[in-house]
Amino acid sequence: MANTKYIFVTGGVTSSLGKGIISASLAKLLQARGLSVTIQKLDPYINIDPGTLNPYEHGECYVTIDGAETDLDLGHYERFLGVPTSQANNVTTGRIYQTVINKERKGDYLGKTVQVIPHITDEIKRRIKLLGTKHKYDVVITEIGGTVGDIESLPYIEAVRQLKWELEPKDTLVIHLTLVPYLAASGELKTKPTQHSVKLLLENGVQPDILVLRTEKELTQDVRKKVALFCNVDVDSVIESIDVETIYDVPLVMLKEKLDVTVMKKMGIKNTNEPDLKPWEDFLKKLKHPKYKIKIGLVGKYIELKDSYKSIIESVIHAGAVNECSVELQCYHSEKINSENVASQLSELDGIIVAPGFGERGIEGKITAVQFARENNIPFFGICLGMQCAVIEFARNVLGHSDAHSTEIDRNTTHKVIDLMEEQKGIVEKGGTMRLGAYTCAVKKGSKANKAYGNVEISERHRHRFEFNNEYLKEYEKAGMTAVGINPDSNLVEIIEIPNHKWFVGVQFHPEYQSTVLNPHPLFVAFIKNCIK
Ligand code: GLN
Repeated sequence: MANTKYIFVTGGVTSSLGKGIISASLAKLLQARGLSVTIQKLDPYINIDPGTLNPYEHGECYVTIDGAETDLDLGHYERFLGVPTSQANNVTTGRIYQTVINKERKGDYLGKTVQVIPHITDEIKRRIKLLGTKHKYDVVITEIGGTVGDIESLPYIEAVRQLKWELEPKDTLVIHLTLVPYLAASGELKTKPTQHSVKLLLENGVQPDILVLRTEKELTQDVRKKVALFCNVDVDSVIESIDVETIYDVPLVMLKEKLDVTVMKKMGIKNTNEPDLKPWEDFLKKLKHPKYKIKIGLVGKYIELKDSYKSIIESVIHAGAVNECSVELQCYHSEKINSENVASQLSELDGIIVAPGFGERGIEGKITAVQFARENNIPFFGICLGMQCAVIEFARNVLGHSDAHSTEIDRNTTHKVIDLMEEQKGIVEKGGTMRLGAYTCAVKKGSKANKAYGNVEISERHRHRFEFNNEYLKEYEKAGMTAVGINPDSNLVEIIEIPNHKWFVGVQFHPEYQSTVLNPHPLFVAFIKNCIK
């Protein structure tokens, strides 16, 4: 394609309408027709990235191969497209301002007053176009976080307005996502919030080209016509997005609504390929017609907000589907688990996952859950802090070091079995300073991890400061916990196992960031398989 096409996705009426899923679904359809597509998320908050945010604020922090700490929507993009994202795919207001202010200090604007327009909007536009010019995608979909009408979204909407004006008319397109509420009392779908939301966009000089309406009931032709008339769009540009069973249905729903065809027509994209969605449909078939059923426990401390564990939850869904197994994932609050109640809480489970995390809160409950899984031969999967808990538990209850701990929690313990990484010592700034992104790992032949991966060299993404203390390695291996994954450069322990347990694997990295619909993560697949057995 000659020019990169830029599609903007905005949202109105309420937040949490699923702009990320709509963006990912459209991208999937265009990709299935042979186009190269990427998705970018612009977040209007001031944090430089979500790495410093508590998961209760915005859900999980997703990590890319290049070590960017990003919004969880990037996880959806990767899971739908199977194509890695990078730092360039997530930009916040904080990052935009930081760039502009650094330039100002360097004297790049010498003599000029630095202002939201043009300097901030120029920087926003530069970040949007970067994906087209540098990475040369056919289509760049940019999702604008927040809701139209928010003060903090204004510079982004203005940047979109300018790009619409600057670029060739067919090279930009705005999709606006809104909600059409159903009023049970009158038995009607209401379009007024959508009309008002489009008016807000128009006030800022942006006419949306396509409207995607979230709804729980089918839109009648009359409703579509009404919205089209009052919002200045074609009737076939009013797209219904009805509630579905799983987010993975959305690409097919959008296909039926011809969202991709409408987009291609409006943008002059000539593509006669039929979308190849066979593998996607096969996945859905398996997901919806399972042969087995199991119950897995996820032990974490942020369980009130499911988004905190988004990638783990999705990885379990992917791995369940390939195993043709329906997985009921029950979340357990680690603060509420103790040695008295652990059996009554966890004994009905076919497998236990102990989640990542930071800090002291809830850690003893996690350690107790590990002990229960280890002693009762229940398949166990420990992720990052979950692996560290497995190491602590083993030291306390098998090696007999009753005060063993991570120095993250207890700096003065005599048995520092988990300790701060060498390169972390002396780091005081919190933002972007962990061990982040992908590192290779050598996997020991014959181990459970090796069997799962079918490989002796892997690459996985990280986000941590503490590590297994290698001074104890011999003692562990003698007692029956082995290190089966090692970083070849730094010697860091990346995977631990208990060989004479049914399936007991702890990983220092985050496998959940690499599981996609069409490429479920091998460790999750093996874990689920062993839970079924
Ligand atoms: N808090 C632990 C560390 O920093 C584990 C981090 C995590 O679970 N992501 O090493």
